[in-house]
Amino acid sequence: MLNPDNVFTATALGLPRIGPNRELKRAIEAYWAGRSDAAALHEVARGLRTAQLTAARDAGLDSVPVGTFSYYDHVLDTAVLLGVLAERVRGIADELDRYFAAARGTADVPPLEMTKWFDTNYHYLVPELSATTEFALHPDKPLAELKEALALGVPARPVIMGPITFLKLAKSVDGSDLLERLPDLLPLYERLLGLLAEAGAQWVQLDEPSLVTDLSETELAAVHTAYRRLAEVEARPSILVASYFGHLGAALPALADTGVEGIAVDLVAGGEADLAAMRSLENTLIVAGVVDGHNVWRVDPDHALPRLTGLRDAGVTVAVSSSCSLLHVPYSLAPETDLDARLRSWLAFGEEKIAEIVLLAGALTKGEEAVAGDLDIARTAVLDRKADPRLRVESVRERLAGLDADAVRRVPADERRAVQQERLNLPLLPTTTIGSYPQTSRIRVARAELRRGEIDQAEYDSRMRAEIAEVIALQEEIGLDVLVHGEPERNDMVQYFAEQLDGFAATVNGWVQSYGTRCVRPPIQFGDVVRPAAMTVEWITYAQSLTRKPVKGMLTGPVTILAWSFVRDDQPLADSARQIALAIRDETVDLEAAGIRVIQVDEPALRELLPLRKADQAAYLDWAVDAFRLATSGVADATQIHTHLCYSEFGEVIGAIAGLDADVTSIEAARSHMEVLDDLNASGFDLGVGPGVYDIHSPRVPGAGEIEQSLRLALKAVPAERLWVNPDCGLKTRRTDEVTASLRNLVAAAQALR
Ligand code: GLN
Ligand code: ZN
Repeated sequence: MLNPDNVFTATALGLPRIGPNRELKRAIEAYWAGRSDAAALHEVARGLRTAQLTAARDAGLDSVPVGTFSYYDHVLDTAVLLGVLAERVRGIADELDRYFAAARGTADVPPLEMTKWFDTNYHYLVPELSATTEFALHPDKPLAELKEALALGVPARPVIMGPITFLKLAKSVDGSDLLERLPDLLPLYERLLGLLAEAGAQWVQLDEPSLVTDLSETELAAVHTAYRRLAEVEARPSILVASYFGHLGAALPALADTGVEGIAVDLVAGGEADLAAMRSLENTLIVAGVVDGHNVWRVDPDHALPRLTGLRDAGVTVAVSSSCSLLHVPYSLAPETDLDARLRSWLAFGEEKIAEIVLLAGALTKGEEAVAGDLDIARTAVLDRKADPRLRVESVRERLAGLDADAVRRVPADERRAVQQERLNLPLLPTTTIGSYPQTSRIRVARAELRRGEIDQAEYDSRMRAEIAEVIALQEEIGLDVLVHGEPERNDMVQYFAEQLDGFAATVNGWVQSYGTRCVRPPIQFGDVVRPAAMTVEWITYAQSLTRKPVKGMLTGPVTILAWSFVRDDQPLADSARQIALAIRDETVDLEAAGIRVIQVDEPALRELLPLRKADQAAYLDWAVDAFRLATSGVADATQIHTHLCYSEFGEVIGAIAGLDADVTSIEAARSHMEVLDDLNASGFDLGVGPGVYDIHSPRVPGAGEIEQSLRLALKAVPAERLWVNPDCGLKTRRTDEVTASLRNLVAAAQALR
């Protein structure tokens, strides 16, 4: 039952944790390298938490999420909390080393699998459970962080991953249905609630993002039972069930009469669909996520406020919040002094979003007049953004409008294959690689020297050309058939293109955690996308000038560029995808004109942007496939288009792969033993395919015999005319000696089979 004396008005669902200047990343990496000890690491972490929590309080949040800090990943933290850190690391005595071993593996044990966190670019570690896993509560971390925050005078609200989401995200190692473990898990949550209350928590937030996915009747019933039981615990904090990344749909009524006091809803990513249902929730605090936690745009008060007042006027108790944890946005705009001033005024990063939440809560509780000045500034910024000419470049829009009819390759794939083969004259089972070659220390040194101004662009470019020449010579010597330039000039496969396209901006310090200590700096797509000049032609033609074998032009596809950027939210993603596709299309045409005969357009993020609910997936796949075809259909039939998708569990996207109509698709398969080819066949796919036969995620060098075996297996599913021989993914993260040995074996295997 909601106690009117125990409500809050302004909060966020979680806070970033890597540190405003990636201090935590550096401290953890120093610990891993043996350059510091656990005490030093804990000290850095405590300092970061203290600064952040007190800042959130001082900014005006009257309930502050606590415990979203992590040394690696919050799902892994939950596995520790519930006593189910992988069996294989149990022997490691030191607690911190055991934790990092589960995250990263050691010489003796493999790490937990890592996978994408819903539709974000954050990766979590997948807990391993079975029908017999024993749960045991280890509440030290949440309790310690709660006490620490309370001692600082912070109105702390511990955040814990909820039982349904935990079971849904875990992997069943024995094939058993993990939801059946709910009755074993709930007593731990019940005890935890009691302990948190004893330690002084008024509220606890149980994160249940899985509730925004399609749930079966059984799952919905489990949601209801679980929260009913947790609500029955005597002497517990008020419970806030937090949903984000979508709308609750049927999960909302399942939660509504369980007795939980609060529900957090994502009013940015679809939660609006549930607004009517929320209006009837009289005894529940609705924590309304109106400030986008997953993107960097400033909130429009005239969009957010009517939703908040609409709920309040219907008699609902409302608090203002971020739509999801602020983990997914950078800390602060303050260091971004290089950004175009106008663009900067349209943005809000973590710190600024907290100020927006407080502002909206002020408007809601005290009336708009009380905060009129700040609302005015926000409104002006929103209007200024709408009026900026860079948001509408008519020449691009007109070209796109006129292109529709041309946006596919009109000659069927088998006819194209014949023309291409005549021109390329490749042997049966052609060998190739995915694009990147090892990022040598020479490359890293050159990049650092350029950044520090110690060398000029010309010197940098000449060093990169030397790298390319070396990679071409190596491939010639190994005997590969279709060569690549090795991508030494690219810091990142998305950033590299974003930096050269109008309509994108880069930040200097806009880091967000991708996984563990790995952080990325997504570009910001703010306006219509225009390619002012060719982006890759010089590098690729240089590489092609060194060899008579075909060199693949290497581009990133529109969906992947969008997936790894902060995207504009003022037009459908599909429209942005078409603009980027047009820029990539122009690049393929330029490459072709410069004599490049094979062009690869990578789409490793095709699956990542797949909507969480089935009902939305077909529409997404339609525009994603259209964008790829738009990007790749500007070339002649004789130009061979490749694509690369770096995963093997295609699931819902399998049909879309044939739709891409790429002449050759390379995919991951070394670890999934070629079953993926049967799935592809079943979907009607009949194009060229290169199932990875060398697992680049491991330092192991596969033997020629072993690769031959994999190819024999592949030949059972794919006729030799369509089969390509290649590794799983780019070779960027491997060492040159491993790569050389593996590729020699790969070529030997192909030759043996021919
Ligand atoms: N062409 C890229 C590379 O080889 C592809 C990377 C990826 O699949 N993520 O590095
Ligand atoms: Zn890949």
